[in-house]
Amino acid sequence: RKRPVDKEQRPINRSLRDVRYEIRGVLAHRAQELQRQGYEITELNIGNPGLFGYRTPETMRLAMIENLGQSEPYCHQKGIFPAREAVVMQQQNRGVLDVTADDVFIGNGVSELIELCLRALLNNGDEVLVPSPDYPLWSASVTLNQARPVYYDCRPENGFQPDPEQVEALLTPRTRAIVLINPNNPTGAVYDRDRLAAIARIAERRGLVVFSDEIYDQMLYGEAPFTPMATLVRDTLCVTLSGLSKIYRACGYRIGWAVFSGKRTDAHDYLQAVELLASLRLCANVPGQWAVQTALGGVQSIQQLTAPGGRLYESRQAIIDGAGQSEFLEVRAPAGAMYAFLRVDTQRLPGFDDQAFALELLEKQHVLIAPGSSFNVPYRDHFRVTTLPTPDEFARVFERIEKVLSAMAAR
Ligand code: PLP
Repeated sequence: RKRPVDKEQRPINRSLRDVRYEIRGVLAHRAQELQRQGYEITELNIGNPGLFGYRTPETMRLAMIENLGQSEPYCHQKGIFPAREAVVMQQQNRGVLDVTADDVFIGNGVSELIELCLRALLNNGDEVLVPSPDYPLWSASVTLNQARPVYYDCRPENGFQPDPEQVEALLTPRTRAIVLINPNNPTGAVYDRDRLAAIARIAERRGLVVFSDEIYDQMLYGEAPFTPMATLVRDTLCVTLSGLSKIYRACGYRIGWAVFSGKRTDAHDYLQAVELLASLRLCANVPGQWAVQTALGGVQSIQQLTAPGGRLYESRQAIIDGAGQSEFLEVRAPAGAMYAFLRVDTQRLPGFDDQAFALELLEKQHVLIAPGSSFNVPYRDHFRVTTLPTPDEFARVFERIEKVLSAMAAR
């Protein structure tokens, strides 16, 4: 006779139970089902430039191919020296002078390094300050490591900027770290230097580790200057994360880096723990590492895409225009990154629910977006789109969004 299944006894790691990563969750699975049935789905849910005809700079591909012959062995757990040294030079050019190749770890994307850096730090019951909205991998990784994300608000009415006073008010004796995502995914906000400096002082006073996810650091539309957090943090440990996926349109290369700067005198054990975890996974993908030096040196082709007339710039503009013409939508012009976080007017659509809307838009119009609630916000009236399709495609997308919203309003 079959025994009843005891949910507590299921053979999975219990710490996974509360881990959520909805961007690749139920909606994305439903979209795949529809694709299998032959429908064409417009995927605005994942920041994957290669899916929309963006190419990795050819020089990077050539650098990788040229070095394939020496890419067969494992490399050092921190990554190959030329890649780490190129990251150091980029940091130095930005005014972060006290780092060497020893302070840089290359990982299989920023994703791996987020998990690894949090795992090395956190114990059961620790707290980490995370922005709301966040890129949900941060919350997921904190939870996975038995700690608790405590959200500081980056509210639409404050231009999605963090409020240092609120950050300070949320600190408890269990707070270990603060996460910044700048330029921000999903909102596109680029944080003011003064706010960042105030947060740096709070972290220094309390000895928190500052994690600054700057994977969109050069994806800027000229509205707000970008300040690397590492230029502001001196008296506590700062971990800056970035990589090849977005600026260099090379998501599939799976290459990211973490730079440890600021005060490292008390961080010896932590850095050893990070290195231990890095050596447990042996090394990052070696061929992709050979593209780093080429990527970071020379002309930065992303700037052609983000300047007026460039494709990313024009698509972002198409979203701003589309929202402006909509009866139901509004958006704050994203100053950076490749997303727009749109708000639906709940006066016109009382009871609007972002998840229900996302499902209806997928089923009826075959457009896949990410509901705002996937980004750990307490409100239900936002959704995120990537700015990756062409401006023309956006015109069609907005028509389809408008149809669904109008139908909802008519009910
Ligand atoms: N951090 C942020 C803010 C992101 O938006 C993403 C991807 O969307 C990542 C990290 C993960 O990047 P990677 O491809 O380097 O793992």
